[in-house]
Amino acid sequence: MSAIIETQHLTHIYGHGLPDATTALEDVSFAVEEGDFVGIIGSTGSGKSTLISHFNGLLKPTSGRVLVGGEDIWADPKQIRRFRFMVGMVMQYPEYQLFEESVYKDIAFGPKNMGLDAAEIDRRVRAAAEFCGIPADHLERSPFELSGGQKRRVAIAGVMAMEPRILVLDEPAAGLDPEGRDTILSQIKDYHRRTGVTVLLVSHSMEDIARYADKVLVMDQRRIAMYDRVDKVFARAPELLELGLSVPQVTKIFLKLKEMGLDIDTDVYTMPYAVRTVLAALEKKKGVAGC
Ligand code: ADP
Ligand code: MG
Repeated sequence: MSAIIETQHLTHIYGHGLPDATTALEDVSFAVEEGDFVGIIGSTGSGKSTLISHFNGLLKPTSGRVLVGGEDIWADPKQIRRFRFMVGMVMQYPEYQLFEESVYKDIAFGPKNMGLDAAEIDRRVRAAAEFCGIPADHLERSPFELSGGQKRRVAIAGVMAMEPRILVLDEPAAGLDPEGRDTILSQIKDYHRRTGVTVLLVSHSMEDIARYADKVLVMDQRRIAMYDRVDKVFARAPELLELGLSVPQVTKIFLKLKEMGLDIDTDVYTMPYAVRTVLAALEKKKGVAGC
């Protein structure tokens, strides 16, 4: 499989050349395979938002390259619009960008901008609304009548309606209650499963990454600290803790059990896997006791 997104030695300096210049990314190289669901995590200020803003050309590298679908997106700056449509970007708190008089018009805004005809726009609006659990009778309502979680789902539907090849979301669950978080994240997961679209999701929560992503990119102070499959990253839980990141509760329990002298694997990050690991450990113990 070929990379759909790739950064090569990507460095970004805000205010480059000015006295208060800030290096937000330094020599970041990594690649995402088409169809992957990648979680991006790291403490505040580690460079997550800066990184993802390069994927559709909102930010331009100070040095290094960004490739989408194998093409350097800045090879011809006049072509940047093409990549804006290819990479759908849901920024933080996207509901603040809703402005149309109806939910329908807000979701239709992107596809309309792409110059699609009314029938195609209609098909996309309805499909995206369905992905985001927006009932058909909400489409004619004003977005301002909706709850915070519903507004956010309208904003996400607006990006999905552009049918991007890659969907990038910056903390889509931030500020929502646990139920709202679960609803939005499972809808995104479902969208990924049903469409095969590549998803990159920035999150503060290791629990969320553990539940929804296949791979994790861990950012630490402008650089990539780890990039691997979820199970492999969680197997390095002590290092994650050293980076000031939390690990899922269940992983913490297993680390504690190991510390207490139990012969047990600690690459545990979901409940079903925890149950299997405990049962395997008990079996092992039984075996030892039997001989
Ligand atoms: P994260 O999303 O991981 O919290 P950011 O990418 O927002 O991190 O920020 C990385 C670094 O860049 C931080 O030191 C932040 O203060 C700085 N930064 C972010 N945006 C800007 C900006 N527009 N101008 C100057 N510095 C910025
Ligand atoms: Mg951020």
